[in-house]
Amino acid sequence: MFKKIAFVLFAGIYCVNAQNNTSYWQQKVAYTMDVDMNVENFQYEGTQELVYTNNSPDTLYQVFYHLYFNAFQPGSEMDIHSQNIPDPDPKIGYKISKLSPEETGYLNVSSLSQDGKAIEHKTAGTVLEVKLHSPIPPGKKTTFEMNFKGQVPKQIRRSGRNSAEGIALSMTQWYPKIAEYDFEGWHAHPYIAREFHGVWGDFDVTITIDKEYVVGGTGYLQNAQEIGHGYEKPGTTVVKPKGKKLSWHFKAPNVHDFAWAADPEYMHDVITMPDGPTLHFLYKNNKEIIDNWKDLQPKAVELMRYFSDKIGKYPYEQYSILQGGDGGMEYAMCTLITGERNFNSLVGVTAHEMAHAWFQHILATNEAKHEWMDEGFTTYISTLAMNEVMIQNNPNSLRGSYKTYYQLAISGIEQPQTTHADHYAHNFAYGASAYGKGAVFLAQLGYIIGEDNLAKTIKRYYKEWKFKHPTPNDFKRVAEKISSIQLDWYLTDWTQTTNTIDYAIKDVEENSNTTTNIILERIGQMPMPIDVYVEYTDSVVESFYIPLRMMRGQKENPIPSMNRTIMSDWPWTNPTYTINISKPKSEIKSVKIDITNVLADINPSNDGYTK
Ligand SMILES: [Zn+2]
Repeated sequence: MFKKIAFVLFAGIYCVNAQNNTSYWQQKVAYTMDVDMNVENFQYEGTQELVYTNNSPDTLYQVFYHLYFNAFQPGSEMDIHSQNIPDPDPKIGYKISKLSPEETGYLNVSSLSQDGKAIEHKTAGTVLEVKLHSPIPPGKKTTFEMNFKGQVPKQIRRSGRNSAEGIALSMTQWYPKIAEYDFEGWHAHPYIAREFHGVWGDFDVTITIDKEYVVGGTGYLQNAQEIGHGYEKPGTTVVKPKGKKLSWHFKAPNVHDFAWAADPEYMHDVITMPDGPTLHFLYKNNKEIIDNWKDLQPKAVELMRYFSDKIGKYPYEQYSILQGGDGGMEYAMCTLITGERNFNSLVGVTAHEMAHAWFQHILATNEAKHEWMDEGFTTYISTLAMNEVMIQNNPNSLRGSYKTYYQLAISGIEQPQTTHADHYAHNFAYGASAYGKGAVFLAQLGYIIGEDNLAKTIKRYYKEWKFKHPTPNDFKRVAEKISSIQLDWYLTDWTQTTNTIDYAIKDVEENSNTTTNIILERIGQMPMPIDVYVEYTDSVVESFYIPLRMMRGQKENPIPSMNRTIMSDWPWTNPTYTINISKPKSEIKSVKIDITNVLADINPSNDGYTK
């Protein structure tokens, strides 16, 4: 009897532990914000009610908020970092250090309460540190109420006022935003350079601004019939309330951020795709750019279809492309891009930022920690999309990403992709690693598991991880399940080290006039499976596939029209590998490793043999 009870108790404890270690959970937020914008001095006042649900297995005693606009003040972490990094972002440089008090950005929290009771809080740069008066137990909700005042900084990076193209307000990272708490703990990283991470939830935002301003951004407009400006149902009458200002009421369900932009000279075009979503285009009434922005619209429709087809259906009813203050940056249900570009660049930046709707917004990896999953995957899919939508017909459209990676690999300043986005010693190393090496990660995965399996992996990854925070391992597990190939070695070497790939054809030597040995050598520290192509003097080409033993599996023949021999596995420890060909050396015209150029071998000069 006693034994039995003990067993039941033990089993119960064991289950709880197992759940904590393996099951996925995420926090939930519900924001209600009301902000009033003064377009003369760029200051705004807001109230915020935040219902926070603690779905973690932990009791929380503190919370943190991001106050991103505080980065735009002389002496901020962003300012000092920019002054000290050897290759500063030219858009930042020393600009923050020179801002006058009227030009800075700030977010000041004037009051904060938890369930009606004031709580202690301290602003430390771009982070608000909050001690709770009542801890939040697992599974419980609490309500924070806040009053805040903000000032929109002079346009320097991402957000700002009166951009070079004349956009009045680019309002991104503009509100006190609670930091994410997940299986790794708090992610209250200061705003130093880039990359964001937010809590999934619902936003109800009311923006009050002068009547002539047109607003676009995250969320569905709830009061279009009071607003007009192209949001009203076609053919209906708009009834605007009296007064100098209008209140725009937006709701955004299941997002992790809320961004907007406003300008009194915005044109507003709307395209409703038959199978959804509705696309909104807001851009300056500037005759220099209007033609490009009109021509962009059918391309944006094609891009939306491309991504929905290759990754998974875009799940919201709306996506907005807004001319904004700086470059191109992705946000929930929208993007802000600069608009004075040539047509190819305008479509290109739209492709990239729209692809982020999947690889950043919906598949919301912690981009500060895994920037390559967000920028790299986006670069991969948007490059392929551009090749199709702009009819570039480039069989090797990802060449640019490979070139960037090769530059990085030989630069001497590469850091592993596990580096936090703000902690790279050089901005170049961040960019090349996140965008170039990140895109090559996916392209090369197609070389390892096969193109069909890669396409299936991307779709299943989306299906299993949308509206969550996937990690590198989550992606790897999907690829393993799809391909039945073990991939831990690939994820580890590629993303956690700076090991490089360099395989060589060391020798082609004849044995007694009848057979020939092709001797391959692994020179680089990173192992890979190898495809070797042999062309004979009669112009017949055949391939030899050498799986890496650690893969415990094989890919399909990438060129089914070609005869392929599957060789025995190559244990990665062995520096050389011999392929025995039943022909004399005189009949071998050439030998080449990977004719598809998808293997990221940093030294192509030793990859071939020619008679
Ligand atoms: Zn990007």
